[in-house]
Amino acid sequence: MTRYLLLIYLIIGFITKTYSQDVKFFGDFVPGSLVFGKAENVKDVWLDKEKIQVDGSGNFVFGFDRDDKGSFLLKIKFANGRVYLKKINLPERNYQIQRIERMNPDKVVPPSKDNEKIVKEREIIRNARKSIGKIDTAYYSSGFIKPVKTNRQTSVFGSQRILNGIPKNAHNGLDYGAPTGTPVYAMADGIVFLSGTDFFYNGTFVYLDHGQGLNSFYLHFSKLDVKDGEFVKKGQKIGEIGTSGRSTGPHLHWGVQWFNKRVDPALLLKINF
Ligand SMILES: [Zn+2]
Repeated sequence: MTRYLLLIYLIIGFITKTYSQDVKFFGDFVPGSLVFGKAENVKDVWLDKEKIQVDGSGNFVFGFDRDDKGSFLLKIKFANGRVYLKKINLPERNYQIQRIERMNPDKVVPPSKDNEKIVKEREIIRNARKSIGKIDTAYYSSGFIKPVKTNRQTSVFGSQRILNGIPKNAHNGLDYGAPTGTPVYAMADGIVFLSGTDFFYNGTFVYLDHGQGLNSFYLHFSKLDVKDGEFVKKGQKIGEIGTSGRSTGPHLHWGVQWFNKRVDPALLLKINF
């Protein structure tokens, strides 16, 4: 009898061990964070009702928006029919309130003469973003770097901005202040899915697609070093810091999203695959 119990114990232990080792996660399960997963023999992955892309090596990614709340169910189906379930309960996250005075009033409430330009540029960006999610390859799988060689953060992710006393959208990126001409590097391998010059808000900028819905953007450049459709390597120079567009001084606005979910770039720098 003891032998059988021992055997059962060993089998359960073996199954549990194999089971739990099957999925590795990198990243925090909090609002405004990306979570990277890696598993072998994955058939498909679902976050609630949404099917998530997985590459041939079992890499996948998903993210929680700054304002996401509540619980999510992650479901991984393996090739042998097994199913892994993980319930995710997002904790609350508090963000800073940031007041900026002396902003050029034209940039806070755009003058109507710029409306046409703003609408046109918004359309260009919306159209370009339609390509996000068409790359199954996890170009990001070699990891991430900080896109500028300074630690001078001038504005953190998620802060609620009040410009000249007018509440605006939350800050959807991380700002680094550095002199005009400072090189800006790609945070990971990816494809330039849009770049532009002197847009009303973005100024001169680059958007990168890192595969599986993960995308990043770099705004307010003084100089652009890449072209649309170009493949860039992690650490490759893509432009130079400037103050073009809606900006009060030379800085990089670095944004990261999973599809349209806004995530905190600072959390990405803690990821070690
Ligand atoms: Zn910014």
